[in-house]
Amino acid sequence: MSSDSTAHVDVDLSALITNFERLAAASVGATPAAVMKCDGYGLGAIAAARVLAKRKNCQVFFVAHAIEGVQLRAGLADLAPGAEIFVLNGPIGDLQIYHDARLTPVLNSLDQAKQWVEAHPDMPAAVHFDTGFNRLGAPEREIDAILSLKRLRINMVMSHLAHAGTRAHPANGQQKRRFDALQAKFPDARRSLVSTGGALIGPDYGADLLRLGIGLYGVSPFGCPVDEIDPVATLSAPVIQIFDIAPGDAVGYDGLFVADRPTRIATLSIGYGDGFPRAAGDGANVSIGGFTCPVVGRVSMDLTTIDITHAPGAISIGDRAEIFGRTAPIEHVAKACNTIGYELLTRLGRRVERRYWLDGARAPAWVIDK
Ligand SMILES: *Cc1c(COP(=O)(O)O)cnc(C)c1O
Repeated sequence: MSSDSTAHVDVDLSALITNFERLAAASVGATPAAVMKCDGYGLGAIAAARVLAKRKNCQVFFVAHAIEGVQLRAGLADLAPGAEIFVLNGPIGDLQIYHDARLTPVLNSLDQAKQWVEAHPDMPAAVHFDTGFNRLGAPEREIDAILSLKRLRINMVMSHLAHAGTRAHPANGQQKRRFDALQAKFPDARRSLVSTGGALIGPDYGADLLRLGIGLYGVSPFGCPVDEIDPVATLSAPVIQIFDIAPGDAVGYDGLFVADRPTRIATLSIGYGDGFPRAAGDGANVSIGGFTCPVVGRVSMDLTTIDITHAPGAISIGDRAEIFGRTAPIEHVAKACNTIGYELLTRLGRRVERRYWLDGARAPAWVIDK
């Protein structure tokens, strides 16, 4: 469907495996679980989950919605039929699907816990307690009432850090202390506190189960690249036209960029319709042929213009620019677009082909043919 005339994203599944290993090693004693919500952060949940299940025997996964869990269950049916799939957003009126697809709900309130035991007594469930995030999770005052639900089988108790993106933030320690206190009331349940950021705060944050998301997909949660995390996704687009313009000539919608010297402009076959934010026009750089080139003028739906004046003769039509990847770190591109790598990945356009690589070659059929 895609061709060399369109944007595509190359997904390095070997790097995903390396990231899984490194993040797991940062918290000795904790079991690494993979977060697959939003179709594996935009890169393809099934491919990522299958590779982790087969190569690393990953058997625990998290999604946000039950329907994502159903799709993941089907995608893992042959490789990891017994995988545990937790649904973070919790059951809201869709209880049957949990039973049918063998999903484990993360209960986020006493009310949800009551509805769950009523519908599925003795089926395992997790409980999320809010320890200061104030977004999702049962308040600590509901602990005793939840504990008193006779047929509620709690197999995991979790919380989530609000400042996982800032290693030294004092709120992390405060949330950890609140979590340590409450989890002691659930001696038979596994404990889970951290996402990627928390897993890198220190080994004592790992508890029993790590919920690894963004780091698996090659993006640092801290806003700048870190050694532990290798890039996974490379978004690229080809040059489809080149212009030489004179001082005073304007480029693109609204004539936003006006040349102040003779300037060579390359037009790339990518735009905000592919997930390259319109805000990239305010200072993002892309990488092409070994040169770093600024985006100039407005990013439009299908096209982006870059200034290649300083790379004379080196760039021709058909050459691909790297929008983010190994030579243009996604963290830097995100910052220039006033966003974060999470958003760049999850907003990648549907028409951007995902191309999977494993062991330096295109991924074999078992990864994707599902
Ligand atoms: C998304 C999410 C994660 C994963 O976070 P990353 O920063 O992507 O590693 C973990 N836990 C919860 C509750 C989440 O919503």
